[in-house]
Order: sequence, then structure tokens, then C-alpha cells
Amino acid sequence: MQCPLLYRFRVIDKLPEKPSEAATRGTLVHAVLERLFDAPAADRTAPRAKSLIPGQWDRLRESRPEVVELFADDPDGERLARWLAEAERLVERWFSLEDPSRLEPAERELFVETELESGLRLRGIIDRVDVAPTGEVRIVDYKTGKAPRPEYAEGALFQMKFYALVVWRLKKVVPRRLQLVYLGSGDVVTYDPVLADLERVERKLLVLWDAIRLATETGDWRPRPTKLCGWCDHRAHCPEFGALPAVSAAGEGARVRRGPGGQNGRGLAKETHVAIRVLLVDDQPLLRTGFRMILEAEQDLAVVGEAGDGLQALDQVRALQPDVVLMDIRMPRMDGVEATRQITGPERDGPAKVLVLTTFDLDEYVVEALRAGASGFLLKDAPANELVQAIRVVAAGEAMLAPSITRRLLDKYATHLPSGDEPVPDTLHTLTEREVEVLKLVARGLSNAEIAADLFVSETTVKTHVGHVLNKLGLRDRVQAAVYAYESGLVRPGAQ
Ligand code: SF4
Repeated sequence: MQCPLLYRFRVIDKLPEKPSEAATRGTLVHAVLERLFDAPAADRTAPRAKSLIPGQWDRLRESRPEVVELFADDPDGERLARWLAEAERLVERWFSLEDPSRLEPAERELFVETELESGLRLRGIIDRVDVAPTGEVRIVDYKTGKAPRPEYAEGALFQMKFYALVVWRLKKVVPRRLQLVYLGSGDVVTYDPVLADLERVERKLLVLWDAIRLATETGDWRPRPTKLCGWCDHRAHCPEFGALPAVSAAGEGARVRRGPGGQNGRGLAKETHVAIRVLLVDDQPLLRTGFRMILEAEQDLAVVGEAGDGLQALDQVRALQPDVVLMDIRMPRMDGVEATRQITGPERDGPAKVLVLTTFDLDEYVVEALRAGASGFLLKDAPANELVQAIRVVAAGEAMLAPSITRRLLDKYATHLPSGDEPVPDTLHTLTEREVEVLKLVARGLSNAEIAADLFVSETTVKTHVGHVLNKLGLRDRVQAAVYAYESGLVRPGAQ
């Protein structure tokens, strides 16, 4: 779900939605695949599975009478017959993808729930859990649609990693394999997660939760129109479709503002106040939505676009000319390091600065991204106010690095840097003794005030020295200065 307002309508207001043919067929097929495992292995055949469909359809109508409406205008039953035939085809296709006679699921339709240390409660229903004799766990999810193109696969995988996270938190076991079975196209997509994947998902969920909390507090749930609006049951309540701002079921007066292209509210306000145009680059659409919700609550920031990978980011930078690019690192097709290199390099298409978002404070790719030209980095689960502040700092041309993190990061990944035995670069000889001293302290992560105290000079003097260092070495900011000092061997990792 990528529309914050739709999230509110569904999850907070709990507005009823009409059942759809596709979703109802999905529920039916899932029920059939689950029930088939009641039979002995040898009887788990395609004909038997198909024979379960009428009975499961009856049960579904009993438990959810609203689905009957789907075929209320189908007196001769033709549409229903076609719909059931398609359900049969999907069930039959499953047998070309998996062999249920060789499977003994440990769990089916498993409800899982856990609470993270932050208090965030996660819950979900896993279609199937297989456990090998060795104890390895496989999580399986059936999809009745088609497999997405590889560049859009992350959405479905994120759901699987979410389940894996819950299982890991509950059972202390990282599932060996995540398996998506697409009955619509006959594809099986697998992914073998590692612990770092699950930790990343947990951090992403915290960002999302932050965004949801902020929207709940402010009542600011933005509509986010996409081509999926055609299927949205709540157009009658949506300002994008002419409705007046709604009041949530929770009783708050919810401020529902139009997007930048809208006819009132925010679109106009942004045009007069916006100073900073932000592009969001992350392969996870949900996370982009979370960031958008946080940033759009600020009058001086506007999210002008989104991209799901580095290549899209380059196109968007060219087309939208953002001031700041909020860049994820690990993405399909082109990662954030290469995209940063191209966005900030000599062939750059605009003035955009790059702020890298990482899930780990000691991520080796962050060093690469800084070398590539990023103006700083921030942890993805940094509080919303830090994120906003970081964007303002970077947009103003400053580097965004917490000094302590700079030092730890560069020390930790010193093995990736030159040994220090290389000849000192010529450019270093252009610095005065004092400037070299200042550069060393910058590289160790000291702020201007700390350097001033250390050298018994004023902060203004330090700023002047830093400016000279950057000019003489042809560096953009103190981030690059820190990397330069390590790479040139001027500062040795771990040295004080
Ligand atoms: S119609 Fe579109 S923009 Fe409006 S709530 Fe539904 S999904 Fe969101």
C-alpha cells in the first residue's frame, strides 16, 4: 500500500471495501491448497485439489456473505463459471511448480505475532512453513497473480522478509529460504536471507512506523494518486477525486491535503515556501512512502519524485533537478554508490547533493558512497527530525556526518583503504603545517568547535583553515577531506 490516505482509510478508519473477483479467487485458491494437505500424500493430486473448489467456495460464502454480491448480476451463472474455471487453472498450475505429495508442511496458514524491542508489534499469516529434517526452515507464499518484473520484485520479497523477521524473532532461527509461488504466471521466486537482511527489514519497519506515528499525530494523511486509484474503493472520500477533507473514525479532524498537483492546500503552499526539492531513491516502495510522509510534513521540503534503483535515479535527477537525493545503497540494476558517482561527478546533470541512507552505521558501502561524492550519510532509523535536519544541512552545501561515526566508520573499514606506505600525494605539500594539523583533526571526526578548543584558536580561524584545505586539495567538503586524509596515509586508522 503506497498511499498514506488509503492506509488511514483501511487500517485506522476501517472503512468497508467491496470484495474483488481477483482477491476472492485468491482466498479460494489458498483455501484449496491448504486443505489438500489434509489428505494422505499419495492422494494429493490435481483432480483431487480441483474437486475441493466447490466445497471451499461454499464455505467462503458462508463465512463472508458479502462475496455473494460479486455475482449478484450474473443470473445465468456464466461469469461465476468462468471465475471458477480460472480458479481451477491456478490450482492445476501449482502442480507444475511443486509436488505436494513430497511435501509435509510443518505449518499451514500460520498466524505469527511478535513484539520488537521498540514495542512495535508485528503480525501476519504465513501460507506454509516447511521444516527440513536438518531443522532448516522454508517459508512459502502463494500468489495467484503473475510474477513481477525483476526490478519490481522487491515489494513481494519485502513481505517475505517481514515473515522471516517475525519467525527469527519468535524462534531465533533465520529461515533458510523464502519462496514465492506465482500461480498466475507459473514462476517460483526464491531468496535465501541472511541475518543482515532481517535486521535491515526491522530498521525499515521502524522508519515506517515513525512515519505512521507522525501522520497520526498531525492528522496529515496525504493522498498519493497512482494508476491503482481506479481500483480504490474510497474515491468518494478522497480529495484527489473531489471529496472534502475527511474526519477519521478515531474522531480527529484529519487534515487531508492535496498533493503538489492538487487544486488547494499544500500544492499552493509549497510553491511559495519550498526551498528544497528532494528525490527519494530506495528499492522499497513502502519505505519511500514512509520518508515521503515525514518530509512532506515540512513546509520547506518537497518530495519531487521517487526512484526504485540507481538507473531510475539518474533519469529523475535529469528530469526533476532535485536539490537533495536521499539515496539507498543496495538496489537492483544500479546501486547507490554508482548512482552517487554519476550524480555528483564531472558529468553531472544538475546541482543535486546526495545524502546516503544506510541501515547500518558501519556499512562498508558508505565509505564507497562518500568517496563517490555523497555529502554525508544517515542511518535509516534516525528520528524524523534528524532526517529533516540532515536534508537542510546537505542542501545548504554542508557535509552531514556525525563526527564520532566518521571516525568509527573510517577506522573500521581501514582495511579497504591504502596501507599508508604509499607516497604522500603532492597536493598535501601545498598545505601549511597548521592546515595539515586541522586536516588531521577533521579526519578524526572533530567538529570546528572541538578543533578550536584543541588548537587554542577561535572557531572562525578553524573555518578559515578548513576552507583553505578544501580549496588547495580540490575537495568538496569535510567528508571528502576525511577520506582524503585516510587515503593519503596522513591519518592512520586507530591512531589518536
Ligand atoms: S483514490 Fe488513490 S489517492 Fe485516493 S485514497 Fe485511494 S489510492 Fe489514495
